[in-house]
Amino acid sequence: MVVGSVAYSAGMTLAEERAIIGALSPSRAGDFMTCPLLYRFRVIDQLPERPSPAAVRGTLVHAVLERLYDLPAEARTTAAAQDLLEPQWERLLTEEPEYAGLFETDEERAQWLAQARTMVERYFTLEDPRLLEPAEREMYVETVLESGLLLRGYIDRLDVAPTGEIRVVDYKTGTAPRRDFEAKALFQMKFYALALWRLNGTVPRMLQLMYLGNGEILRYTPDEADLRATERKVQALWEAIERSVRTKEWRHRPSRLCDWCDHQALCPEFGGTPPPVPDHRPGTSSRGRGRPRSATDEL
Ligand code: SF4
Repeated sequence: MVVGSVAYSAGMTLAEERAIIGALSPSRAGDFMTCPLLYRFRVIDQLPERPSPAAVRGTLVHAVLERLYDLPAEARTTAAAQDLLEPQWERLLTEEPEYAGLFETDEERAQWLAQARTMVERYFTLEDPRLLEPAEREMYVETVLESGLLLRGYIDRLDVAPTGEIRVVDYKTGTAPRRDFEAKALFQMKFYALALWRLNGTVPRMLQLMYLGNGEILRYTPDEADLRATERKVQALWEAIERSVRTKEWRHRPSRLCDWCDHQALCPEFGGTPPPVPDHRPGTSSRGRGRPRSATDEL
C-alpha cells in the first residue's frame, strides 16, 4: 500500500452525545476474556501493579517508533532510531521515576536496553520508514455504540493511502502467536477497526500487527460482516461484565498469562483470597491517565 499523509482524525476523538452505559478498551476486554478475576482486580479494585521490564520495554520501543516519524523521511535510519533509545529512556525515567527500580544492576539494565535495541533494529527488516508518512501515531479513538457502550483505545499508527484506504498498525514487542491464537491477537485490531468504522463509516482496508520479538507480520483484511460480529462480541462481553458486577462473581481462569499476573497472592489458584468486592463500577470517563501498557499488551 502506498501511504499518503492525510488529515484524518479531525473530529474523531469526541464521544457522541448519547447516554453512556460503560466503557471498554481492547486491553480490558482482553483481560476479561483471559480471566474475569484479573479484570476485576484491574478495573473494579484498581489494584496497583508493579511495572515489569517487558511492559516498560514495550513502552520504550513504542516511543522510539513514534518519534522516528518526527524525523524527515530520509533521516529515518536504523542508526537514527537507535540514537533515540537513550533519550527516550531518560524521558520515561523522568516521568516515571519508579522505573529506576526495575534493575538491580547496571548489567541487567544494559541487557534490557540491548533487547530494546534489537527490536528497533528488527523493525527495519519489516518495512522501510523512509517510504511511509503515517497519518496518525498514538491516536486516541473513542466512539459510542448504539447500546451506549463507549469503545476507546490508542492506535499505534494509522496509514491512509492517497485512495483513502486505511491501514491500522500495531507494534508488539512479543513474538507472533501460533496460528490457533491468531484470532485472539486480531481481536484488538478488529476492535479498533470497529471503532473507526463507527466513527467515519469506512471499513479499514488492512489490519497489521508487527511482531518485533521475532520479526513477523500478521495481516488481516476485515469486512463489514467481521466488524458486525466484533460488535456483537464486544456487546456480549460487556453484558457478561455487567452480570459479574451484579452478582459479584468473578471467576479466575488460570492460563500461561498467570506468569505475568501481579495478583497471584490474592488469587485462589495460588492459594490466595480476593478481598471483598469494593462498591465500584467500571468507569465511563474518557481518556483516563493516558495509555497504560502491561506485559500482556505486548503479546
Ligand atoms: S493469577 Fe491467573 S487466574 Fe489468578 S487472577 Fe491472575 S490471571 Fe487470573
